[in-house]
Amino acid sequence: MVFWKLVRPDAEAVWNSEKVRRKLKWYSMVMNDIAPAKFMIAKKVPIDFNPGDGRSLDELWDAHDSIRKEFLKLLDKARNGDLTLSDYKEMPTPQYSFLDLKVELAWRIVRECRFCERRCLVNREAKRGFCRLGLKSYITTYFLHLGEEAPLVPSGTIFYGSCNFKCVYCQNYDISQENPYQGIEAGAKEIAIIQEYLRNEGAKNINHVGGDPTPNIHNIVESLKYVRVNVPQLWNSNMYLTEEALAIIIDLMDIWLPDFKYGNNSCASRLSLVDRYYDVVTRNLKIICSSGDPIIIRHLVLPNHINCCTKPVLEWIALNCRSALVNVMGQYRPEYMVWRSPEKFRDISRRPSTEEMEKAYKFAEKLGLDYEEVS
Ligand code: SF4
Repeated sequence: MVFWKLVRPDAEAVWNSEKVRRKLKWYSMVMNDIAPAKFMIAKKVPIDFNPGDGRSLDELWDAHDSIRKEFLKLLDKARNGDLTLSDYKEMPTPQYSFLDLKVELAWRIVRECRFCERRCLVNREAKRGFCRLGLKSYITTYFLHLGEEAPLVPSGTIFYGSCNFKCVYCQNYDISQENPYQGIEAGAKEIAIIQEYLRNEGAKNINHVGGDPTPNIHNIVESLKYVRVNVPQLWNSNMYLTEEALAIIIDLMDIWLPDFKYGNNSCASRLSLVDRYYDVVTRNLKIICSSGDPIIIRHLVLPNHINCCTKPVLEWIALNCRSALVNVMGQYRPEYMVWRSPEKFRDISRRPSTEEMEKAYKFAEKLGLDYEEVS
C-alpha cells in the first residue's frame, strides 16, 4: 500500500462524492491522464510569428486575444472528451505557440512589474519592488504534501519564497517576509525539473504556493515550456494579481485554490497591509468562477471576524461562485507579529472558538455551500 493512502484514506474516499467528481471533473481528467493539461494544449496552438521579434505590448495582447479563441476551442474539445491525451500526442508541435506568446507577455510585465495590484512598476532586472524579488525565484522547499484538501493529496507542492502581502499572523513568515531568499535560486528550467520530479513521484498536481506564487509568474509560465509530463497545474494564492497577470495564467491553470480571507477592504488593510483587497479578489474570483475551471476556495476563520469577514465572504461565494467547493478553515492561531505583540492585535490574539467555528459551518450550510467534502 502506498504511504499516502494509509495516512490520508479520505484522499481516495472523497472521489465517491458525486459533487466532487462533478465540480472537479476537469482536474480529475488531467490528473488521471485522460485529458492533456491546459498548458500542454497551449503548446499546440500555433502562432505565425516569433513573439520575441520586437512587437509592441499592444500588438502582443491583440494577438493573444485573437489566438485564444483557437485555444478555447481545443480546450472545449478536451473538456468534452473529444481531445484525449493520446489524441494530443499525435498533434504537430508548432514552431511558436500560444504558450510562447504568454511567456513573452510575462517577461515584458516583469520588466515593469505589475504582476500584482501593488503595481510597483519596477524593472526587476535592476530593482526590487514590494516583494523584494528580482528575476530569480527562490524555492524554499518542494515535496509531496499530504496535508492539503483530500482531492489534492498527494500534492506536488512548490513553496516560493516572498509574498506581496504582509499578514501580521502569517504562519510562513520566515519564507514570506523575514527571509524570502532561502532554498534554491531557480529559473524556469529548475522549476520544470522539480515539476517533472514531483509528478514522477506520484503527485496528483503541481501546487504553486508560497509566500505567494504571483511574483514568480514569469518563471512559472516559462517553466511550462520545459515540462514534458502531463500534470494538473494548481494556483494556490491570495489572488491579488492584476487582470493582465490573470489573463496570462488563466489558460494554464487546471484548478484554483484561492484564499478568500476578508469580507471588506479595511480588515485586509489592517491585518495584511494591502489596499482594495476585497475589490481585487472578488474581481479575480468572478473571472475564474465564470471560466468553468474547478475551484476550491479557502476561507480562514479569524476570531472576532465572523460578522465582518466570514459571513460576507461566504455570502459572496453563494451568490457568485456556486461551482466552488469551500474549505472553511479552523486552524488559525496567533503567529508572528500577533504572537510577538498580542496587545496590538487583540481581536485575533486567540484561536477561533468552537462557537465561532460552529457559526461559520452553520452559515455555510444555510447558504447551501459545498464545504463538508474539503473542510
Ligand atoms: S509582484 Fe507585485 S509586489 Fe512584486 S514587484 Fe511586482 S507588483 Fe511589486
